[in-house]
Amino acid sequence: MMPEASSHFVIPQPPVVSVPVAGTLERFPVRRVYCVGRNYADHAREMGHDPDREPPFFFTKAAQCLVTDGGVFPYPTISKDVHHEVELVVALKAGAANVDPADALALVYGYAVGIDFTRRDMQAQAKAKGHPWEMSKSFDHAAAIGALAPVDQIGHPASGRIWFEIDGDLRQDGQLDQMIWSVPEVLSHLSHMVTLAPGDLIYTGTPAGVSAVERGNKLVGRIDGVGSVETTVV
Ligand code: MN
Repeated sequence: MMPEASSHFVIPQPPVVSVPVAGTLERFPVRRVYCVGRNYADHAREMGHDPDREPPFFFTKAAQCLVTDGGVFPYPTISKDVHHEVELVVALKAGAANVDPADALALVYGYAVGIDFTRRDMQAQAKAKGHPWEMSKSFDHAAAIGALAPVDQIGHPASGRIWFEIDGDLRQDGQLDQMIWSVPEVLSHLSHMVTLAPGDLIYTGTPAGVSAVERGNKLVGRIDGVGSVETTVV
């Protein structure tokens, strides 16, 4: 008799990380989480960089970092300066390599609002020393995400307000059309570096206004026509 599939693993299989799909009981399984650095000119400036149209650059977070379903954000260890970055998140239903921007939107399942949490003090040290950003970006609970809105319900948002509040206080307030690289351009660039696949999430960068969060803060990010993400810092 064949053993059950799970008995092939020497430890219990880690759970599949997944994101709820708005208005349904279905969930989107997550493969990789990619993030774009500096994709809004005003945020590039506030971080001390020239917002000229250099090619986009990318980093990753582990899927196991995701905070979903309105879960809490436990303040991470080590850092004393953890920032919020509200971002449009793209979720892929299909894969491709070397995709043309004109073909890129056909890969998209839907969109969500996300928060890229960043240990800003550790990131600044890493930048100064030429070290990897990993531990400033891919720590436990480092990426919140709201429910996914499928393309067949909302289309492909290329404009609209993106904003972020702490305890009702407006901190970030931008427009999607301020992105230096559009979603099709981001997907095209990324697909020349790695093979994209169903389940991939891409955080597309943040507008200006990033700031520190503190324990007890209620965080809310919203994008017109897409949805929201909410979490509390504990
Ligand atoms: Mn970011």
